[in-house]
Amino acid sequence: MDASNYLNFIVRNIHTTIVATVDDEGLPVTAAIDMMDFDESGLYFLTAKGKGFYDRLKKRGVLALTGIKGNDTMSRVAVSIKGKAEEIGSDVLPRLLEKNPYMYDIYPTEESRKALTVFRIFEGSGEWFDLSRKPIERVSFSFGGKTAEPERYYITDACIGCETCGAFCPQNCIDFSNVPAVIKQEHCLHCGNCMQNCPVGAVERR
Ligand code: SF4
Ligand code: SF4
Repeated sequence: MDASNYLNFIVRNIHTTIVATVDDEGLPVTAAIDMMDFDESGLYFLTAKGKGFYDRLKKRGVLALTGIKGNDTMSRVAVSIKGKAEEIGSDVLPRLLEKNPYMYDIYPTEESRKALTVFRIFEGSGEWFDLSRKPIERVSFSFGGKTAEPERYYITDACIGCETCGAFCPQNCIDFSNVPAVIKQEHCLHCGNCMQNCPVGAVERR
């Protein structure tokens, strides 16, 4: 899947996400925010200009969000994103309202909807984490003008092929068919066990 598939999943399958912004004291603040549309340049949501959420977005211009889908932990998919947020105003508001008509129940009159404004998340990077699969599935992606290099564990040329790390890996996601061994990144939990238990320090976190 490419980035648009993950953005589509957020909008269509998750929709309501938990968004973190930063307040004037540098502390994180969360809010439940619906992701209402997406295109190749990013994710779109709306808010009202009177909210503290709006002020925090305007002051900092960044956010992070997580959305989850599934009935219990072992059937859940989580998608997390961080990126820049810019106000693009009311020009695309009709498009967002058309795609999310429940907003007419929350802001029923044209006068009341004048408080609304649209933001776009761009230059974003994200991670798909699917616990319903065995082994787990993890995918990093980026969108809206950002090329992200995700945090990962790597096995370097210092590896001697002893396979010690394999006993500590909870997902059996280290391939020992060659030396150096190779971590199958799409199944890695990022637990760090391989790095902590390698006798020659061959594992790095980058
Ligand atoms: S424990 Fe270290 S040296 Fe041994 S296979 Fe794993 S990475 Fe290579
Ligand atoms: S970080 Fe954890 S899950 Fe990933 S390869 Fe190392 S031991 Fe396995």
